[in-house]
Amino acid sequence: MTLKTPKCLICNSEAFTPFLEVPNRFNILESYMLVQCSACGFVYLWPIPEEMEKYYEDAAYQPHQEKAETFTDRLYRWVRAWNLNTKRRLIKKYHKDGLLLDYGCGTGAFLSHMKNAGWSVQGVEPSEKARSVGVQNDLNVQTDIDQVSGSFDVITLWHVLEHIENAHEVIDSLSRKLTPDGILVIAVPNRDSLDAKVYKSHWVAFDAPRHLYHFRTQDMVRFFETHRLRIVSKHTLCFDTWFNALLSCQMESAVLRKRFYAFGLIKSGFIALGASFRGAFHVDSGSSLVYIVKCLL
Ligand SMILES: [Zn+2]
Repeated sequence: MTLKTPKCLICNSEAFTPFLEVPNRFNILESYMLVQCSACGFVYLWPIPEEMEKYYEDAAYQPHQEKAETFTDRLYRWVRAWNLNTKRRLIKKYHKDGLLLDYGCGTGAFLSHMKNAGWSVQGVEPSEKARSVGVQNDLNVQTDIDQVSGSFDVITLWHVLEHIENAHEVIDSLSRKLTPDGILVIAVPNRDSLDAKVYKSHWVAFDAPRHLYHFRTQDMVRFFETHRLRIVSKHTLCFDTWFNALLSCQMESAVLRKRFYAFGLIKSGFIALGASFRGAFHVDSGSSLVYIVKCLL
């Protein structure tokens, strides 16, 4: 296997110390190294496998699935449906309607939802399998950002930034496609969350090797500053916390071969409850965070 050795995405330093060894949730016998930048504290996957596509081909990878087959898949669908309304209401605070681009749109569930709500929508999705589902559903989905023309009032990246190796390049291209009053909406898992701290290497949102970066709010602030972008507001997606706690519990049970799975489930419920309660008062401790970002004038 060929490997790539990235520098820190935030400060470009090459110095790091080992942070955590984490399993691949679809093959727990495989593990990957997360490292922490010695200069700024940012955590990232090191090294990166060269042929990344195969890690998205697992039949159980929910964002690219057409059918819900297991209990977890059905729960993912339910959480996604709930989150679609939450996302639309959040965007409505800034723009009531207009042109929307969803970067990394998967099978196009969010695009369809917004199209039905009266928005003019386009998507970008590199996975051919996921993109074909969107196209079948009469959505305008391109393979690459270069194929998209025009400007947008809203550009969304729902749990996408942490997957993109050339993240700086992509954010540069996307911010150039914003209208003067346009917003970027970027959701990422939060390494500072309560569930991340409790589950450690079993936290499902480390999702190695698919997730390359593990952001905290201070990392996002520095990342956006590089692109002359500023954070307008931050929000949590409440049900992400419950979903992440449940999946983390499943991974912990699988890795540690725990016999008393029921105790793990109860523990995940308490952690999700605690994280949701804390997240209601301290947005920065939510399991995932949504950043609303605008260009600096
Ligand atoms: Zn750094």
